[in-house]
Amino acid sequence: MSCVLKVFRAGLQSGIRLQSSSAATAKAAAASSSNAGSLGFSFELTDQQKEFQQLARKFAREEMIPVAAAYDRSGEYPFPIIKKAWEFNLISGMGLSIFDSCLITEELAYACTGMQTAMEANSLGQMPVIIAGNDAQKKKYLGRMTEEPLMCAYCVTEPGAGSDVANIKTRAVRVGDDYVVNGQKMWITNGGKANWYFLLARTNPDPKCPAGKAFTGFIVDADTPGIQVGRKEMNMGQRCSDTRGITFEDVRIPKENVLITEGAGFKIAMGAFDNTRPPVAAGATGLAQRALDEATNYALERKTFGKAIAEHQAVSFILAEMAMKVELARMAYQRSAWEVDQGRRNTYYASIAKAFAGDIANQVATDAVQVFGGNGFNSEYPVEKLMRDAKIYQIYEGTAQIQRLIISREHFGKYKK
Ligand SMILES: Cc1cc2nc3c(=O)[nH]c(=O)nc-3n(C[C@H](O)[C@H](O)[C@H](O)COP(=O)(O)OP(=O)(O)OC[C@H]3O[C@@H](n4cnc5c(N)ncnc54)[C@H](O)[C@@H]3O)c2cc1C
Repeated sequence: MSCVLKVFRAGLQSGIRLQSSSAATAKAAAASSSNAGSLGFSFELTDQQKEFQQLARKFAREEMIPVAAAYDRSGEYPFPIIKKAWEFNLISGMGLSIFDSCLITEELAYACTGMQTAMEANSLGQMPVIIAGNDAQKKKYLGRMTEEPLMCAYCVTEPGAGSDVANIKTRAVRVGDDYVVNGQKMWITNGGKANWYFLLARTNPDPKCPAGKAFTGFIVDADTPGIQVGRKEMNMGQRCSDTRGITFEDVRIPKENVLITEGAGFKIAMGAFDNTRPPVAAGATGLAQRALDEATNYALERKTFGKAIAEHQAVSFILAEMAMKVELARMAYQRSAWEVDQGRRNTYYASIAKAFAGDIANQVATDAVQVFGGNGFNSEYPVEKLMRDAKIYQIYEGTAQIQRLIISREHFGKYKK
């Protein structure tokens, strides 16, 4: 374990270095570290990747699984687990390639996607700064995340606009050296726990101004006067994750906290998803793998009509279908992560992975409940939580329908002459 930790520490240090260089260099460096030693086409993980995976697996099984049901019941924020994960450098955004982060994410999600979403939201909050921040912004806001276990959040969605991001109403108006922000955000993961936020606000009031120029991305300290954090929302699943509305009332943000320049926000906010959708797909895959494992173990034990239910062909085929879906979701997230680590535009692959893994997590978790019969419907067994937790994968970071819009747009783009 100490050797693996050393590797993580090295990753962490190079992470700080990476984060202060250009995004392209960072991607290339991450790619070479993730693929060191592999030539051509290979499904084999490097020894280092296997160590990351093993460390995350051990952490997930020993630290997370035993407390997952209790956190689900109480809805309490799992900060002790997050702190421990941070100490093991298992929270993404710490200088690892996207591929390597995904391997870790899948393992953590296997244990509890409520806790894993709370951790993953840090990666989503940091991503606009990683891809678009200047050296001073990276040092100040990413640097502090490596010094202590702090949370951050990505504030884009509003009560009136989620999929239709270009319709958000939060306004930022330049006044002297500051921007003054007014508006309301909704469904913000880590909303009540974040030390700082990435915020998207409209800076050009002209409704005819194209989205690519109308919005600005800001970094906002969470303790800035005028920020009011709403109550914790009680959701169907992933209940220990902290989701809130946030109101901004005459919040002053210094111009130094603008990402790139006024008007560049929409592309930054959307560009972050190319890096964060592969890990979301990895999370959905981890949940689906857990559902498959639980259902298989149960089917081998439970007997009806004189034999294990796994020996009834109808049940074995349910399990075979579940296995097919899990394997393909894993390949999809790995491909999408590998593409972006190569420094290539992966929008098509990221949406395929996110849509597919989100859908199959729901199908596979529902099938696991079916295999468990009556026990599957009961909270003494683990699969009903998986079914509740799975639903959000078809909603956040772009709904299942929005992913299909993106995939079809990218697909047709290849045929245009
Ligand atoms: C638990 C949770 C955590 C979240 N975390 C965050 C976060 O950290 N930061 C953040 O900014 N947001 C976050 N969100 C918001 C999330 O990204 C949005 O809920 C999501 O994008 C959908 O937006 P909406 O809820 O406004 O639904 P709507 O956009 O109103 O969509 C409603 C339905 O219509 C469909 N639809 C909409 N437009 C189209 C179209 N053009 N074609 C076909 N179908 C369409 C959708 O697919 C959906 O089924 C979170 C949400 C939840 C529930």
